[in-house]
Amino acid sequence: MNQGPPPSILVHDTFTASKRELELRDPGRCGVYCCGPTVYDLCHVGNARAALVPDVIVRFLRHQGLQVKYVRNITDIDDKIIARANADGVEAMAVAERFADEYHRDMATLGMLEPDVEPRVSSHLPEIVELIERLLARGGAYVAEGDVYFRVAAFAEYGKLGKRRPDDLLEGAGSRVEVDARKESPLDFALWKAAKPGEPAWDSPWGPGRPGWHIECSAMCSKHLGETFDIHCGGRDLIFPHHENEIAQSQGAYGPGTFALNWLHNGFIDFAGEKMSKSLGNFFTTREVLALHDPETVRYFLLTVHYRSGLNFEVRVDCPACGAPLDRDAQDQGRCAACGAEPGREALRARVRFPGLEEADDRLAYVHATLSGARRLLREAGAAAPAGPAGPGPLLAAFCEHMRNDFNTSGALGTLSRPLAEANTLLAATRGVDMAVRLQWLAGFLADMDQVAAILGCFGGDADGWLQRRRNRRAAQAGLDLGRVEALVADRQQARAVKDWARSDAIRDELAALGLVVKDGSTGTNWDFA
Ligand SMILES: [Zn+2]
Ligand SMILES: [Zn+2]
Repeated sequence: MNQGPPPSILVHDTFTASKRELELRDPGRCGVYCCGPTVYDLCHVGNARAALVPDVIVRFLRHQGLQVKYVRNITDIDDKIIARANADGVEAMAVAERFADEYHRDMATLGMLEPDVEPRVSSHLPEIVELIERLLARGGAYVAEGDVYFRVAAFAEYGKLGKRRPDDLLEGAGSRVEVDARKESPLDFALWKAAKPGEPAWDSPWGPGRPGWHIECSAMCSKHLGETFDIHCGGRDLIFPHHENEIAQSQGAYGPGTFALNWLHNGFIDFAGEKMSKSLGNFFTTREVLALHDPETVRYFLLTVHYRSGLNFEVRVDCPACGAPLDRDAQDQGRCAACGAEPGREALRARVRFPGLEEADDRLAYVHATLSGARRLLREAGAAAPAGPAGPGPLLAAFCEHMRNDFNTSGALGTLSRPLAEANTLLAATRGVDMAVRLQWLAGFLADMDQVAAILGCFGGDADGWLQRRRNRRAAQAGLDLGRVEALVADRQQARAVKDWARSDAIRDELAALGLVVKDGSTGTNWDFA
């Protein structure tokens, strides 16, 4: 959108362990690779964060005028997929197909951009075989009984990304019981695994088998982004060994200085400040969270924390029997201290609430109400409304300054507080501020917020519709009968039309007893939570 050279963007690069200018192979263009899911189950909140981080980075780089190619793979050949297929008594590819579809559904619900290319391992076997052959030809790999291993000793840089010394790694590996006699060194890792009975297999020069996990990403990066490209993303848990091995394979094949120029890693999601309790399970699926919260709230919540930081995902559970809040010990033991009940995992999970998301939901409601109010005022002004602003205003400038600083969404969201408060002041002001000045300011505010919405994938769309969906969801969660509420509101409107004030007041009291208020506005009567 901007003309001229894009302003500088700082990133924290894991390889150099420093914050520095985003390095681009070709100014104006940026290739982004993100390690996608292994599709053997529904995705969890951590997967959603790992997909959201590159999503917002890509949106922002495009906003800054860069031409971005975004590649996110799908790992559809893997031990976990085979294990799931055996457990379910179906083909491995059927498992992969099913959970790739489920993943796409979750990503679409969360408003994620579709990657420009979404390569799958199963359709990149020729590229993977070719890359392994290249490594073999250069002495970076060796064949052992139908397997092919990467020769770590041939790659002097090994351990630089993960900040590990090969000697220390060897010491650690040597202390483990199992040492595979086929390997030259315990550090060597599989590029190709010979087929075992009952496993899916593909032909190769070394016999039937399947690729190791790491080689797929190296092969797909070079195929879709070139031997050297700009940004490689992923969760912090992938730094070692996955990304370390990707570098070893790719630089082993294409030479020093190739592969990703910038390594960006996102932090973990911390459930309740530590791992989730035993009685609750290990994680929450995205589906479970989306059953309680609007997708935009989930996005917004995840963006309130800088991508490199750990994100505290607070979990609250009340006892299904007596309603007492279960503290951490009670959650661990699955036993309520107040009433002695021992609810099973399913019963406990059904009672889970996420206070952080509830807070985010309130904040998002405030933003949408502000946007709605500003749009309404401009709409009502009709011909008196000012023409759109000539260019981006101070709101967008302050927001983007934080985004250019290592995609600091947390700081960027913080800059919105004052303009939002200012907008509400102007919306509430009935005197003292010239109407033309108010309208002019609000038009600029809305124009900037439109761009913020495009960058974050939040705050866009129909604000009134969002607020109404939120109200209905809260009503359903509170066990209110929506039909009855609507009928009461309609009855009251009728009573008011015939000036039956006693009846109108009685209905208002009945709604108040349900925790609701009715609002009579210029566009009719509406209701909401008190
Ligand atoms: Zn990968
Ligand atoms: Zn209890």
